[in-house]
Amino acid sequence: MCDLEGTSKEHVPPLCLFPEPKDVKGLNFRNNLITVPSCEKHNAKKSNDDEFLLVAIAGIVGNNQLGYMQTITKVNRALRRKSSDFLGKSIMKNIKSGTKNINGYEFPVLFGNPDHERFLNCFEHIVYGLYFHEHQKRFAGEVSLLLGFIEHTQKDSQTFLEFCRKRFEMEDLRLEEKGQNPDVFKYQFCEPDVDGLIGFKLTFYGGTEVFGALIPEGKKPSYTLQDQILSMGLPIQYTLGDEKFQFNQNPDSNDNLHPLKKINK
Ligand SMILES: [Zn+2]
Repeated sequence: MCDLEGTSKEHVPPLCLFPEPKDVKGLNFRNNLITVPSCEKHNAKKSNDDEFLLVAIAGIVGNNQLGYMQTITKVNRALRRKSSDFLGKSIMKNIKSGTKNINGYEFPVLFGNPDHERFLNCFEHIVYGLYFHEHQKRFAGEVSLLLGFIEHTQKDSQTFLEFCRKRFEMEDLRLEEKGQNPDVFKYQFCEPDVDGLIGFKLTFYGGTEVFGALIPEGKKPSYTLQDQILSMGLPIQYTLGDEKFQFNQNPDSNDNLHPLKKINK
């Protein structure tokens, strides 16, 4: 993250995401965890964010059993230690309860607006850490992120997300999945493209997905004609495999969906 000397080790992703044996009937999901050196400043700042990340993603609908186990054990313990308004104050705004139909069953769920900035900060740390782990050096540049587990209200953002997901599912992008405890966390890095951009996908608990790109310092992505038309707000359709993805169908939309720009909305 910075040029200061690494004085401690930090887990990537945070250790608390990996179940403790006592919470999963003695099973071990803490094999060969990734650690990277960290300066004191960055390590000290992180522990609150680690807990935020665990509480915010473990119980997301679509996660596997381990996410569920983490929710009913470690997350619940954390919530009991906090004040009763912790969820609504520190995790999601405008919380509403409801149900969601999954495979024909109605499940009780909470809906709300996520703390997007804080999520970006957490995942940015993880991506820089993974890059260091892979290359034994700092990544000099920016990270652009797209949170796959959030339902975007703007149609173009949601379409773009599905576009990314499809791209990673396609044959030519079948990339090696890394991570020694893949049911908790796994990641994929693409080879750098012509502009040096490195696409990636992170998956937590089998269902919580984050897409993004590492953009090297001083590298300006080259724009294709399609990109330009897209940024002008004209309707456009991409075909990927057997699926079509339509953007800018609503002329009033000022949705900023370009993949190479930092998505902060
Ligand atoms: Zn630092």
